[in-house]
Amino acid sequence: MQVELRKTFQFEAAHLLPRLPESHKCRRLHGHSFQVEVVIAGPCDPELGWLMDYAEIAEKFKPLWEQLDHRYLNDVPGLENPTSENIAAWIWTRLKPSLPLLSEVVVAETCTARCVYRGA
Ligand SMILES: [Zn+2]
Repeated sequence: MQVELRKTFQFEAAHLLPRLPESHKCRRLHGHSFQVEVVIAGPCDPELGWLMDYAEIAEKFKPLWEQLDHRYLNDVPGLENPTSENIAAWIWTRLKPSLPLLSEVVVAETCTARCVYRGA
């Protein structure tokens, strides 16, 4: 039985998008309550009846969360242009080695706008 687990995290951070024209609102310093969804996929263990402990996903994500929460994202190495797309890829690159079943990273800046990255 193939299953997918989705674990949601939240972090607060400030950013600006330096490559946009001065007239664009996202060029100005502002903040978001970002939501991150970490998705893993794989076979459900028939004995345990689960794929993985959600707590293990949280444990693997925690070091990254600490680098993101209450930060000015433009100062985080690798996030000089911190769009949702780049944040999703940044998380993917750092999480995949310790979470090989990772299948998707979703980053939402607002309730209505989100980016999905699947590692390609
Ligand atoms: Zn923004």
